Amino acid sequence: MNNNDVTGTLDTMIIGGGQAGLALGYYLKQQNRNFLILDENPRTGDAWRQRWDSLRVFTPAKYDGLPGAPFPADPLDFPTKDDLAGYLEGYPARFDLPVLHSVRVERLRREGDRFIASSNGRRWEAHNAVVATGTTQAPKMPGFAAELWPSVVQLHSSEYRNPGQLQPGPVLVVGLGNSGAEIGLEVCRTHPTLVSGTPTAELPVRHGRTAARYAFPVVRFLGLHVLTLNTPIGRKVAPVFKSHAEPLIRTKTKHLAAAGVRLVPRVAGVDSGMPILADGTRVEVSNVIWCTGFKDDFGWIDPEMLDGGALPRQWRGVALDSPGLFFLGQRFLYSEVSDTLPGISRDARYLAGKISVPVTRESAASAI
Ligand code: FAD
Repeated sequence: MNNNDVTGTLDTMIIGGGQAGLALGYYLKQQNRNFLILDENPRTGDAWRQRWDSLRVFTPAKYDGLPGAPFPADPLDFPTKDDLAGYLEGYPARFDLPVLHSVRVERLRREGDRFIASSNGRRWEAHNAVVATGTTQAPKMPGFAAELWPSVVQLHSSEYRNPGQLQPGPVLVVGLGNSGAEIGLEVCRTHPTLVSGTPTAELPVRHGRTAARYAFPVVRFLGLHVLTLNTPIGRKVAPVFKSHAEPLIRTKTKHLAAAGVRLVPRVAGVDSGMPILADGTRVEVSNVIWCTGFKDDFGWIDPEMLDGGALPRQWRGVALDSPGLFFLGQRFLYSEVSDTLPGISRDARYLAGKISVPVTRESAASAI
């Protein structure tokens, strides 16, 4: 889209043009709203493209579509990350959604009843601002990573693409969530591999087409309708889901063990340039892959609109003390699937309903 198309005060600006921003764009378009999606990447779908080469999504194609456009694949298949990126890339054109690429919003602030987003000397102004920047903006790594000898190749999972990035010799994969398990299984084909940590849990069914047909509808139902902030059980588990890795979905500990991976305790620190495990063992490795997750990075948002740098008081993404400010796609924003493809359309539709009315303190409060 041409920047010259953007003039005056927008009704709504969406910061982040991944699946969350696009799904919301779809609903705003249906309401004929004057909105703009700003995204730092040059192409829609890049967030998926930038993940490791062999990644396939865990969710079957029947749950991977955004509103109005079912995912074009056998419903029981698991698309590759590039299939998904391609699908997302075609989405804005299909629904005529205005996306401005290669714009990293460096600052978002309020000026009177408007929001101002600025980037590299340019600015956009809107009555509503939606933060849809995903959950993988800031890789999380322990401070002691800096103490590893420089000869050790270190990568965060967000930098890992394939085993070709590694040097010969053993690999330590730190963290046994889904990324750690999948990457561990891949690198063990070319390198002696240790995976450190304990999984939160393991999905008690074998991942594949049969699970897509019979188990995933149940898992999706639980994630969408039972584990929500509207149920006692949902409220109870929400903090756990926010702070712990997801249960292992496809690659389980038995698959790792069968493939020859050594499962070891968590990494506790570094001793003389090498990782030391919680049981005191010092492991000599040539490569370390940190599959230690991500943290929020809202440093570009005016702190007055946040709560100590974190999400402000909000309900289903509607900021309660900051009329016109919205969030979408964060972990357990409303339900266990709020940050995933099966959950994003419902959350986006809800927000579109909330930002379709003139925003005042009263209407923000009525979101509860
Ligand atoms: P993103 O896709 O991260 O999009 C956010 C966009 O905002 C990005 O383009 C980013 O560049 C942009 N942005 C960020 N900050 C700014 C800024 N300041 N200014 C402008 N633009 C900005 N979910 C599933 O449903 N099924 C799966 O199988 C699945 N597998 C996953 C595997 C991995 C390895 C990971 C990390 C996640 C997976 N997810 C899966 C979870 C989720 O679906 C993805 O993380 C998805 O990319 C989230 O979409 P999003 O739109 O919320 O964020």
